[in-house]
Amino acid sequence: MIEVIEQSESRIAVRFGGYPIQYVNALRRIAMVEVPIMAIDDVVIYENSSVMHDEILAHRLGLIPLSTPLHRFVRQEECECKSPLGCPRCRVLLYLDVRADEKGRIVTSADIISEDESVKPISDNIPIVTLAKGQGIRFEAYARLGIGKMHAKWQPTTVSIVKEVDSSKDDYILELESVGSLPARDILIEAINILEEKITNLGDSIGGGLRAYADAKPNIG
Ligand SMILES: [Zn+2]
Repeated sequence: MIEVIEQSESRIAVRFGGYPIQYVNALRRIAMVEVPIMAIDDVVIYENSSVMHDEILAHRLGLIPLSTPLHRFVRQEECECKSPLGCPRCRVLLYLDVRADEKGRIVTSADIISEDESVKPISDNIPIVTLAKGQGIRFEAYARLGIGKMHAKWQPTTVSIVKEVDSSKDDYILELESVGSLPARDILIEAINILEEKITNLGDSIGGGLRAYADAKPNIG
């Protein structure tokens, strides 16, 4: 029995009755570190006269959640382009060019312009840096698909926990909260797909191993 007991764009809670704890824990972990999302990965800073160092600025940009259209992009290392610069299948260019007038101003995620409308900051209100009068910032940034295993900035969840209802009956609740790059429901569905693929591959490799063994020893059996 799988029952959705709570669902919104950012949060989902699903009850798994009759599933072993290992299965639910595997989903929890995959949701955290194996479901891919987009994040800013490379930043080319052309101008930065703010007080913030370039490295800190780049780090901050990496942590801005970006909307991620599922299955539109591939990981750069898996892309057919084989190019370190990437192509429209494996990266999105974002840029920003802001100069403060007399009053100074706060640069926010709203100032970031994406070449692809489907990949952009999930909120306009994320502060990036404060500019004093006359200071300016100009950069280009590349967003790429990645997973939480590589770096925390690619983690699609803020919360991913398993609660026990009745362990003697294998009854558990998995709760997921999204950072906003993907709807919580999509994170769970992707996690289930990835886990099923792993189980299939494992079955194939065990099956293949047994077949190879049987072929090598045709008298077994
Ligand atoms: Zn590519």
